[in-house]
Amino acid sequence: MKSFLNDISLKAPSAAAIETITFSPISTISESDFRIRDSEFGEVAGSPLPDQGICPDCAREFFNPEERRYQYPFTSCTICGPRFTIIQDLPFDRPRTTMAEFRLCPDCLSEYTKAADRRFHAQTIACPNCGPQLWFADAKGRRLAVDPALETGKLLGAGAIIGVKGIGGYHLACSATDEDAVRRLRCLKGRDNRAFAVMFRNLTTLQEHCELSPVEADILSSPARPIMLLLQKQPKQLAPSVNPGLRELGAFLPYTGIQFLLFDPEISALVMTSGNRSGEPLSIDDWEAFRDLGPMVDGFLGHNRSIRWRCDDSVLRRQQDTTLGIRRSRGYAPAPIKVDRELIPLLACGAQQKNVFALTKGKHVYLSPHQGDLDKLPTFTAYQETIERFMRLLQCKPEWAIHDLHPDYNSTLYAKGSALKTIGIQHHLAHIASVIAACQVKGPCIGVVFDGSGYGTDGKIWGGEFFSGEGANWQREAALSDYPLPGGAAAIREPWRMAAAYLQSSDRQSLQEWLTEQNLTEPWKTLEVAAGLGINTPYTSSMGRFFDGIAALIGGPCYTSYQGEAAIWLENQAETKVTSSYPFHIEQTATGLRLDPGLIAVQVYQDLKRHEQGIISMKFHRTMAAFIVETATLLRKETGYQQIVLGGGVFQNRLLMDLSVSLLKDKGFQVWIPDLIPLNDGGIALGQAWLGSLMIERGITDVFSDTR
Ligand code: ZN
Ligand code: ZN
Ligand code: FE
Repeated sequence: MKSFLNDISLKAPSAAAIETITFSPISTISESDFRIRDSEFGEVAGSPLPDQGICPDCAREFFNPEERRYQYPFTSCTICGPRFTIIQDLPFDRPRTTMAEFRLCPDCLSEYTKAADRRFHAQTIACPNCGPQLWFADAKGRRLAVDPALETGKLLGAGAIIGVKGIGGYHLACSATDEDAVRRLRCLKGRDNRAFAVMFRNLTTLQEHCELSPVEADILSSPARPIMLLLQKQPKQLAPSVNPGLRELGAFLPYTGIQFLLFDPEISALVMTSGNRSGEPLSIDDWEAFRDLGPMVDGFLGHNRSIRWRCDDSVLRRQQDTTLGIRRSRGYAPAPIKVDRELIPLLACGAQQKNVFALTKGKHVYLSPHQGDLDKLPTFTAYQETIERFMRLLQCKPEWAIHDLHPDYNSTLYAKGSALKTIGIQHHLAHIASVIAACQVKGPCIGVVFDGSGYGTDGKIWGGEFFSGEGANWQREAALSDYPLPGGAAAIREPWRMAAAYLQSSDRQSLQEWLTEQNLTEPWKTLEVAAGLGINTPYTSSMGRFFDGIAALIGGPCYTSYQGEAAIWLENQAETKVTSSYPFHIEQTATGLRLDPGLIAVQVYQDLKRHEQGIISMKFHRTMAAFIVETATLLRKETGYQQIVLGGGVFQNRLLMDLSVSLLKDKGFQVWIPDLIPLNDGGIALGQAWLGSLMIERGITDVFSDTR
């Protein structure tokens, strides 16, 4: 019995998460066999499992012609296969999944009931005789009498785009070496310049294209099978339109038999991008897919098992000995995050972009799968439905809804329109709280948030903040000086406006010169008049805008198609051998420390006459890292705080993160970066949940104080 107890944790299957083990002596009950009894209804303990990529044993069967599951795309077992995406209700038993309609054949039933079989009680057990089947349809959704896998392989090899139904939704697939196909996909999807992810046949092919560490290889092959951002080997062997101008490639491996079938002998790398219309939710329903994706594809490879929960692929990156979450979704959601204390039952609504919401239960925070940007109605509708269903699934009955301070975020409107009591939390404090909750940081810290935008308590748009404090007691200590955001949100899509705004107040002569060079004098005139009158010109201290503005200033995109494009361009220019930086001055003002970005912009512009973009970009990155370290050092002198928490989407900049962390560590700071929890707005809900609960307990609605 002792060794049995030990084995529970030592020999636990890969997907098991053991919370606690308790034991006590009981009297024998004269049982002589081993059985798994039917689940009884009642309060549900435990959590739904994330989806598990096909395991090595099942993959071996899939590729072995001797096996009865040879090339059967729905091969799975007790440790692998879909879980969350097919669940209707807890506990996870077949009748409560979308596998319910497939009745076991005698062979499967015998495996299912034999305690020694590796499919003993496998709820997703299936075989070619009794399980789900593939079909192939044309772009209009009409089924064709062809071999679905052969037809798909043939078409992909000939440059076609195929809608492929997977585990958490549809993908759009095309050959990653066929430039015409990739370009056509980009055009049909109305896709901005963002990079596509590439699925490789196996680890060996992946390694021919990307630099890969052993840890990265392990994560890629783990049951979660996330997309990992890896440095792509030069010269690039894939179609240039996959990730134009970028050093990194999002790479992943097949996680279901369906995807094994896509790689016919001709094809070893496929673009696999979410099957959705731009800005809308991933298609999971077949008719939805025919309607929305039909115009983009040459055919569909689908199957007759329905998907219950939409789940986009997760995106991660290894950096600073941590696995950074860019998007935490399939393979990870809805596994709960454990925090350091019991939380009030609540709903954390998340932000507007890259939305993830959360529910709490005891010490657990359940982060939803990625919901996307809530701007468009179909996404907002899906968000609301998913919240309702997630509450039912987890049996959570929150009394509170925690929301962002931004009055126009759809997540805020949802909270306010619900029957729940509400609390608003400042966007960047939620970023910091998210890291504190994820890393279980103890004691006071300095929080550095470099972000795109977040509604501030003064009605301005924040995004370059230093906080100090702990728990529910915080101070805003330092920031970038406020600059006009000419034309409001339009300035996010047009970084040249920020470049002009920085030059304007610091060096009008340079501004005129630059506008003339760029042929932007006319559009600026209108904006300048509007700004003078205070029309549609909010003020911002955003670090994201600063990176964008500097990019535009030195020849990067003046108009962008997605958030972060200019900053990503700037990072990819950087000549990493450069060791110099720009001088700067941190000013003490009545409202805290301030750095004037305009004064740096002017130096950058002057430098452009002497140096190449790559040198300037690197100098700028070094300057921002130095700004972090100098400000943190000043704050440490005042507060004595040693711990630094980094948050906000700007830290997804690999170069900035590496430079800042190594400088901070050199100065003796302890730097916290969370595993898997995104630094971008995908992590906001965790912070809202943790901090919101604390505020409710203390009966407070404001966490900013003037006293330390
Ligand atoms: Zn398996
Ligand atoms: Zn069967
Ligand atoms: Fe943010």
